[in-house]
Amino acid sequence: MNVIPYGRQDITQEDIDAVVSVLKSDYLTQGPNIKEFEDAFASYIGAKYAVAVSNGTAALHLAAMAVDVQPGDKVITTPITFAASANCIKYCGGDVVFADIDPDTFLLDIDKVRVLLETSPKGTYKGIVPVDFAGYPANMEAFRKLADEYNLWIIEDACHAPGAWFTDTKGVKQNCGNGVYSDLAIYSFHPVKHIAAGEGGMITTNNEELYKKLLALRTHGITKTPTEFINPLSVAAGVTGLEEGTFPGWYMEMQSLGYNYRLTDFQAALGLSQLKRADAGLKRRLEIAKTYDEAFIDNSKIKVQGLQLEAGDFEHAYHLYIIKVADRLGLYNYLRTKNIFAQVHYFPTHLMPYYQQFGWKQGDFPMAEAYYSECLSLPMYPTLDHAQQQFVIDQINEFLNL
Ligand SMILES: *Cc1c(COP(=O)(O)O)cnc(C)c1O
Repeated sequence: MNVIPYGRQDITQEDIDAVVSVLKSDYLTQGPNIKEFEDAFASYIGAKYAVAVSNGTAALHLAAMAVDVQPGDKVITTPITFAASANCIKYCGGDVVFADIDPDTFLLDIDKVRVLLETSPKGTYKGIVPVDFAGYPANMEAFRKLADEYNLWIIEDACHAPGAWFTDTKGVKQNCGNGVYSDLAIYSFHPVKHIAAGEGGMITTNNEELYKKLLALRTHGITKTPTEFINPLSVAAGVTGLEEGTFPGWYMEMQSLGYNYRLTDFQAALGLSQLKRADAGLKRRLEIAKTYDEAFIDNSKIKVQGLQLEAGDFEHAYHLYIIKVADRLGLYNYLRTKNIFAQVHYFPTHLMPYYQQFGWKQGDFPMAEAYYSECLSLPMYPTLDHAQQQFVIDQINEFLNL
């Protein structure tokens, strides 16, 4: 019997053809598929601008650079996320301050964030990195309101939530990462995410200034746009005495310390091809979630993610379907014997040895730690078929009735 993983990519012949056609073209990197992917992604999310980068972590790093995180800047995030949500602040020399999660939704608890802000002198914190954890939209409108009171920026880690949305208090449908309430949002195209490109990432924003910064930062901080050049013509041309004329065609200017975080053109072609099936994939994820919900609703031994966004209606993107069970380790091991490879998301970041050196320790975040002791992510991906899902459900029930 084949292994049933917790997540996996779905590659079609169309995807393969899209990649092969780039391999036969003139551009392996920085070709026409990059801009096309960015435009299509921005329009899918409903944001003005999108910048494709080499992976989600690079997207976080550049986002943190774009909002100008400086050494010593304090930034708040959740301990229950992939470590990169916090690491991006450390890359810039900033300090990560964790706040506990809401025990029902598993998301960063805005009330805990508010307490941090209220009990520190104004100006102590610079920003917040909320995560649309598992695919459940964080209430970005509420975070924006709080952030505005304290003059904070927001980087939304929307890696789990392309296609998710919530309706705000005005009744307007807001897609995760559309830039209405967050300054920047980031996504990943790792194979377990909704849209696979091998590796890949995207940053979305409605802010033109941030967009331009990101374009430069992703490619060494270099600009090739003559109207943006800082050096005078004679310096650029290497000839003294030139005061007027056009800049030489070869000239480009490094104006900030950027990186090489570019996506290749064949990855962009794969992402673009995958994006065309994003709605179908999301629909299938919602069906799978509903089947799990129905299977577990009457089972007192299983708790699922509580969905109680106060603003109103919403749609979960179900990157993960998470249950909580008392004997998580037992269930995990039992499922492995049945070739079902469930997974745990996540070991709390504040307990990673790297973060413990900054003083974080067990007991700091009781909700996050209690969540971690019971959480398990069940198989969730569009090509998981009905029989496979039923097999997973049957094995869980069998274990719980042992
Ligand atoms: C996957 C993920 C990332 C990092 O993305 P990579 O493309 O793997 O670098 C960051 N944050 C969250 C919440 C993720 O799930």
